[in-house]
Amino acid sequence: MKSIVCHGPKDLRIQDADTPAPAPNQLLVRVAFGGICGSDLHYFQHGGFGTVRIREPMALGHEVSGIVHSVGAQVQGLRAGQRIAISPSRPCGHCRFCQLGQHNHCLNMRFYGSAMPFPHIQGAFSEFIVIESHQAHAIGDHLSLSEAALAEPLSVGLHAIQRAGGVLGKQVLVTGCGPIGSLLIGGLRRAGAARIVAVDLADRPLQCAREMGADETINLRTDAQALDRYKVDKGQFDAVFEASGSEAALKSALDVIAPRGVLVTVGLGGDIALPMNQLVAKEVDLRGTFRFHPEFATAVRFLNEGLIDGKPVITGVVPASQAIEAFELACDKQRSLKVQIDFEAATA
Ligand code: ZN
Repeated sequence: MKSIVCHGPKDLRIQDADTPAPAPNQLLVRVAFGGICGSDLHYFQHGGFGTVRIREPMALGHEVSGIVHSVGAQVQGLRAGQRIAISPSRPCGHCRFCQLGQHNHCLNMRFYGSAMPFPHIQGAFSEFIVIESHQAHAIGDHLSLSEAALAEPLSVGLHAIQRAGGVLGKQVLVTGCGPIGSLLIGGLRRAGAARIVAVDLADRPLQCAREMGADETINLRTDAQALDRYKVDKGQFDAVFEASGSEAALKSALDVIAPRGVLVTVGLGGDIALPMNQLVAKEVDLRGTFRFHPEFATAVRFLNEGLIDGKPVITGVVPASQAIEAFELACDKQRSLKVQIDFEAATA
C-alpha cells in the first residue's frame, strides 16, 4: 500500500509501506479521505514547528475517514463495510490526566502524525491503517466520507467553545477564519451565540465564515478601522476566539473584548508580547485550548444529524497519487481552506 511520508522540509514522498495487521481487539480500515491540517503543512514546509522537528520519516495526517475493512475477533459493534470517522486521539486511559477525564493532556498520548515524541507517532495518510475500536465513529448514510473527515477540525472548535465556558446569548468575535475558525463559527451558532463577528485578512475565508454562520465579516487588510466601533465602553465582545495565531490579532482582541471577557487562544503562533495592563485592568480570562477528546463524538453527531454543515470549508479534493500537489495547494491561503486527499480515487 501507499503512504504519504514526510522525510524533512519540502521532502514529502508517496512511498510503499507494508499493510498493517490488526490485533484481535483492533480494526483494519481502508482510509477514504484525509484533510491536510496546519500542523501537516508545518512539517511539510519547515520540518516541524517551535522546537518540534522531524527526526525520522513520518507519515502525516490525522483528519481521516474510512471504511472498515476487517474486524478483529474481539471487536463488538462494528462490522466490515461500515463507514466511519476516525478519531486520531489515542490517550492511554491510565495516567493521571486520563483518570481526571482530561484525555487531551494524556502523558502517553499517541496522537496521529506527531513528531513531539520519539519515535514519532505515525500519521494516518496511508491506504490502510489499524485503529482501536474507540477511534471508530459510525457516520450516517447521507454524510459523505469527505465531510466525515471534518470531524477532527470541528472537534478542535468544539473543545475551544467548551473552554470558553458557554456562549449562549453572547456577542462573540472570531479572529482567523481558516478551517478551524470557520468550523468553530458553525459550533458557536449551534451553541447559541447571539452575534458572531468574524475577521480575517483575506476574502476567501471570510466568505466561508459567512456560510458557516457569521453575522458580520471584516477584512482587516482592506478595512483596518472596521473593528474600532467595538472598542467603545471598554469593549463589546463577551468572548473572543483567536484562531489565527498572530500577535496583531491577539492585541486587537484585547482592545475590543469586554471587561471579564473570555479570550480563547486557538491559534498557535510563536512567542509574542502581550499588553499586560489591558489584560489585568479588564480582568480578561486568557484561556488556551488544545486538541479535544470527547468532543469528537459530538462533532460526528452534529455532522450526522445535519446540525452543522461543514461543506463550505472543503475547497479542494485531490487524488492521493497527487498528494504533493495537494500539500502545495493547501499552502496557498488565498485559494484554499481545507484541502483533502482522496484515497478512494487511488483504489477505485
Ligand atoms: Zn493517559
